[in-house]
Amino acid sequence: MAVCTGCSLLCEDIELTLKTGAISQVKNLCRKGHGHFQALFTERIVPKIDGQEVSVDQAITKAVDILRNAKHPLLYGWSNSALEAQRVGIDLGKKLGATIDDTSSFCQGILMELVLTGKLPTCTLDDVRNFADTSVFWGADPSNSHPRLLSRFAYYPRGSKRQKSYEEERNCLVVDVRKSATAKLCSNYFRVPPGGDADFIASVIDVLDGKIPKYGDKKRMIDLGTILRKTEYGVIFPGVGLVYALQDKIELLKTLVAKLNEITTFKVVPMVEHYNMRGFNQLLLDDSGSINRVSFHSGQVTHGPENSIMAAAKICDAALVIGSDPLSSLPFGTAKSLAGVSLIAIDPRRSLTTDAAQVVIPSAMYGLEAGGSAIRMDGVRIEFEPIVKSDLLSDEQILARIKEEI
Ligand code: SF4
Repeated sequence: MAVCTGCSLLCEDIELTLKTGAISQVKNLCRKGHGHFQALFTERIVPKIDGQEVSVDQAITKAVDILRNAKHPLLYGWSNSALEAQRVGIDLGKKLGATIDDTSSFCQGILMELVLTGKLPTCTLDDVRNFADTSVFWGADPSNSHPRLLSRFAYYPRGSKRQKSYEEERNCLVVDVRKSATAKLCSNYFRVPPGGDADFIASVIDVLDGKIPKYGDKKRMIDLGTILRKTEYGVIFPGVGLVYALQDKIELLKTLVAKLNEITTFKVVPMVEHYNMRGFNQLLLDDSGSINRVSFHSGQVTHGPENSIMAAAKICDAALVIGSDPLSSLPFGTAKSLAGVSLIAIDPRRSLTTDAAQVVIPSAMYGLEAGGSAIRMDGVRIEFEPIVKSDLLSDEQILARIKEEI
């Protein structure tokens, strides 16, 4: 049985048979996970320095040389790596006096911080399956991002208190700017215009207070208020769509959840995309008091926007990127800054970042070629074993070598 690291659901029930060059038989793997596993056979990379193929030892030695001589090193990525590698990475950051940040810095971080610091009530996905009668997907489309969330936990399965499941006992609500694939499956869809989420929340709070809502279709808003009021155990799954729309108004979500909890039980589980973003956020929080954007420069621990990838990319003189492709995913200015410094990429497969990196170190793919552990989107720790033999080093082994040699 394998664990899929294709998304933060970390499905543990994957049965697959691999034959030369392809997955020959598979059970329980979704389309997204299939693509993730299939990547084992495609887009693999070799160790390189300045575009020339070298040995792994040479690539590691060059990475050590770059980091040792950097005045402002940046360590970035982390969300697609195991806890064990993240732990070594944070220690490496301390040893180097580096800035360290992860992908949560520009997506779910603001929300994850509220959950990890206990400012938003949360629950496990097993609680969702057993107790939840209302799931609200807000600015999220799990049918594409977490394809088995509805079938394993949120809508279709029978749970200990939800034996009648979606046919009679579960509501699935979608609040989004478009009628997504998930909205087409669910019982209720509420459209918000781009950026209209704050007004929508204010109207839901009005309805829950027994007032006429100022925003949106009044009848639909009152219908929504009725569903929420009748809920016994509700869960809001906020996606990046909601986080981007609210930004510095994220407190509004807290207010709504507090209002709902005056009436019934409501929890929040952020729709984390990368399989171990939550793990990195938890480790760094425990270590430094902040979930991301931390600097260990000159032996001092500081955190704040000046340590975000966007700001740090402008002043760093070397960057180590692990399990991430910032040159494809970050704004052009940040990508351009990173491409202009001594860049080290550790990754199981090819990306724009590995193409541009001065030093490329291939790593084993967690869940397939390397064992370790990760924190699922709901905070549950999942362990995984390698299911195929590989000569490649894991992220943890590569980082430990770099740390030791520095
Ligand atoms: S839902 Fe996510 S973890 Fe589960 S099989 Fe699909 S990609 Fe993998």
